[in-house]
Amino acid sequence: MEITTFGVIGAGQMGNGIAQVAAASGLQVLMSDIKEEFTAKGRANIARNLDRNVEKGKLDAAGREAILSRIRTTTSLQDMASADFVVEAAVEREDLKFKIFRDLDAICPPHVILSTNTSSIPIGRIAAQTGRPDKVIGMHFMNPVPVMKLVEVIKGLTTSAETFQTTWDLCLKFGKTPAEANDFPGFIANRILLPMINEAIFCLYQGVGKAEDIDTVMKLGMNHPMGPLALADLIGLDTCLAIMETLYDGFKDSKYRPCPLLRKYVEAKWLGRKTGRGFYVY
Ligand code: NAD
Repeated sequence: MEITTFGVIGAGQMGNGIAQVAAASGLQVLMSDIKEEFTAKGRANIARNLDRNVEKGKLDAAGREAILSRIRTTTSLQDMASADFVVEAAVEREDLKFKIFRDLDAICPPHVILSTNTSSIPIGRIAAQTGRPDKVIGMHFMNPVPVMKLVEVIKGLTTSAETFQTTWDLCLKFGKTPAEANDFPGFIANRILLPMINEAIFCLYQGVGKAEDIDTVMKLGMNHPMGPLALADLIGLDTCLAIMETLYDGFKDSKYRPCPLLRKYVEAKWLGRKTGRGFYVY
């Protein structure tokens, strides 16, 4: 089945990035969110990104217009009935993703693959919400999506080989490099990354170092392009906490306990760049 219309659920930082790369690859994109102000914000972000590409000479004005013209937005999930492949990039909450997948299962034709950009929620648990568990898969893009090459493709226990191949090929069409992962909490990327970020937050919490010093040590000492606290602010501290909770619940191992400081920041709605304050002020 040929994929011409690509559905994206959630127009936040990941959703609008995914919509941009899908439209740039020539697909028609339908991007949804719960309110028009969120779809408008997502679309404006894409336009800004494309403007930067034009300024840098990577794209011409006609190319920019063509990409934008391929992106439609909606606040009705029902419109996903016209999508040939869907990726869900709503907030990292299991109950919310379960409901979206139950709804999508009722709305989308039975052959349509329903993928999720979840950072850590088990694919098998999401797949079990649907009547098509063979067509549910993880398609985990990295942030910022237009820049980062990697997509982790995660097979649940019930994901079919055909679903895996179609998703893999789509990553290649988007100009990305896929990597295969199996369905364990945090998959590969966040199983390794988040405990490191959490440990950096513990260093701050226990006064081992100031935020700037912790980040400097990891940038200059380990050659990381960004320090872990600046990266946490980019990811979103709510998302970081949600991933740590999933690791902790999934493995029942105390080494994954979220740092109390991370929880405090999230409770205060200091979520990082997206709210203007996290470990740094933006
Ligand atoms: P975000 O907060 O920027 O965006 C989430 C969007 O989902 C919001 O616009 C919100 O209004 C929307 N939303 C909420 N409920 C919805 C619903 N029922 N239907 C449609 N839209 C809904 O979050 P994000 O950083 O874009 O993260 C989205 C997903 O991607 C999460 O599962 C996250 O774990 C994952 N992810 C995030 C990163 C990262 O670095 N931030 C990286 C990889 C994967």
